[in-house]
Amino acid sequence: MPDNTVISTDVLEGGVGRITMTRAAARNAQNHAMTYALDAAFKKLEHDNSVKVIILCGEGPHFSAGHDLKEQGAVSDHDPVGTWGGYDKHGAEGLMARETEVFLQMCLRWRSISKPTIAQVQGKAIAGGLMLAWVCDLIVASDNAMFADNTVGMGTNGVEYFAHPWEFGTRKAKELLFTSDFISAQECHKLGMINHVVPLDQLEDFTLALARRVALRPGFGLKLAKLACNQALDSQGFIMGLNAAFSLHMLAHTHNLEKYGIIVDPRGLSAPIVASLQDQIKIPISDAAKK
Ligand code: ZN
Repeated sequence: MPDNTVISTDVLEGGVGRITMTRAAARNAQNHAMTYALDAAFKKLEHDNSVKVIILCGEGPHFSAGHDLKEQGAVSDHDPVGTWGGYDKHGAEGLMARETEVFLQMCLRWRSISKPTIAQVQGKAIAGGLMLAWVCDLIVASDNAMFADNTVGMGTNGVEYFAHPWEFGTRKAKELLFTSDFISAQECHKLGMINHVVPLDQLEDFTLALARRVALRPGFGLKLAKLACNQALDSQGFIMGLNAAFSLHMLAHTHNLEKYGIIVDPRGLSAPIVASLQDQIKIPISDAAKK
């Protein structure tokens, strides 16, 4: 059953299921508890025949601050869903097993849910927050929504689910990765990443109305249309590109682990997170650029 302390799940009229992230105080930062709760909720709604469309949203001013770097938790505290094990092993072996399980394969599972999914995004969606929006079939954003992947500043190639070139176009993807800049909902709409931008106070109603309109179509037709679109992307190399980028991501983590003692370059982290990791970081940040 989903962990209802980090998410809530509703079945609404009109064939719509809705999953709400409820860690507003942490800007819906995604720890492992939330990852597994989301997976359980998606699975529950997938197997509920009264649900034809699923909305993913978050409480509070922001959709998602990304992965929770402070209190991620251990994979071994949960029931793994993938086919890789050894999460607690040292070195790249355990690291790759963990990130395969909770990031790459988890996102691909959610992308492969048979029913149409809609992300309802307000405020900021950063790094892992982008992944949550991208795995959904449609994205509706409020006019204050902003998106960014700041993980190049942490010494990686980008987040684990490397869909950037497909979502932004390659040239914009490079700029956003190189700068870590935020991109507005309006600009994302122009690039085709977002379906609709609406005023914040209309976001929930608009998304629900869209979901109900989609749910009027025959369920099997919806599933086949979704699959046909995803298969078209896959035939263009989407999955191969994702897997190749994930290999580079693991190279980056392994490099950072050897150099800094943690899996990211600490220069890309906020001061409170650096303070919480101080006993693990091998190089003072002031010296990191010289080495
Ligand atoms: Zn990672």
